[in-house]
Amino acid sequence: MEALALERKAEQNRELRERLTQLKKERNAIILAHYYQRDEIQEVADFRGDSFLLAQKAAQTDAEVIVFCGVHFMGESAKILAPNKTVLIPDERAGCPMADMVNVEGLRKVKAEHPKAKVVTYINSSAEIKAETDICCTSANAVRVINSVDADEIIWVPDKNLGHYVQQHTDKKMIIWEGYCNTHDMLTVKDVVEMKAKYPEAEFVVHPECRPEVVELGDFIGSTTAILEYCKNSTSKQFIVGTEDGTGYQLRLDSPDKEFIFATKFLVCPNMKVNNLKKLVKCLETMSPQIYVPPVIADKARSSLERMLQVK
Ligand code: SF4
Repeated sequence: MEALALERKAEQNRELRERLTQLKKERNAIILAHYYQRDEIQEVADFRGDSFLLAQKAAQTDAEVIVFCGVHFMGESAKILAPNKTVLIPDERAGCPMADMVNVEGLRKVKAEHPKAKVVTYINSSAEIKAETDICCTSANAVRVINSVDADEIIWVPDKNLGHYVQQHTDKKMIIWEGYCNTHDMLTVKDVVEMKAKYPEAEFVVHPECRPEVVELGDFIGSTTAILEYCKNSTSKQFIVGTEDGTGYQLRLDSPDKEFIFATKFLVCPNMKVNNLKKLVKCLETMSPQIYVPPVIADKARSSLERMLQVK
């Protein structure tokens, strides 16, 4: 019975992939997929990457339509950097709880309390927040960006865990927003200690969106892309992974001879998994839902993203 169901699913996916190829040609579309997406989406993507790499890809492509398989703020960044293109997202309910933990009103209040501070915003944020920002950053360039800012005081939004990590690498005073990623924050010291005991030869690679006490246990600490690079180049054969489980697709593709064990089964972002192959095909068929960012917000948000690009 189970075998039959699997066979039927495989057949459905084959049909969906064929339809997708046809639609891509008809619409002159490109599929961008975040590393945290389901395997069935990463398999059919033209490019896989983290939010920043994909936004850059969106800005560079000649395609007229971009299907952004990720969460809403990522589609927004693509639209901000490629305002003349149509940006689709397979399911508009794919939001990011961390991005939603900061609002414009609250941020303006903190800005008023610290008039000399500059706002540095993690790319995992809404277009409205980016529009209130002096400069954006990613988890890969956060320390460089903060140290490049011409101010002693920094208002940091929205991720407190990444903020804590960055604070250890800068002399600037950081006023850290209390947001966090529900998924990365699930990982506990107990989980990691147990895994390390079970797999003593494995290296523990961890994303700085995890809790500070978990990050401290890392053999390697880095952004999603940095973790992928590190595992590919390391001579180790076994890794305990402290980031979202969708990265397993690229990790296994890069190093089929290595073993990747996720530090807990809870490292799954339900928002990322809202998208699936069926919805991806449907959004190209119907050309909806589309991402819209009001031009006045997009222009301001673009400036904060472009300032980040100038940081060497
Ligand atoms: S993994 Fe965390 S930061 Fe990324 S989309 Fe999910 S909740 Fe947001």
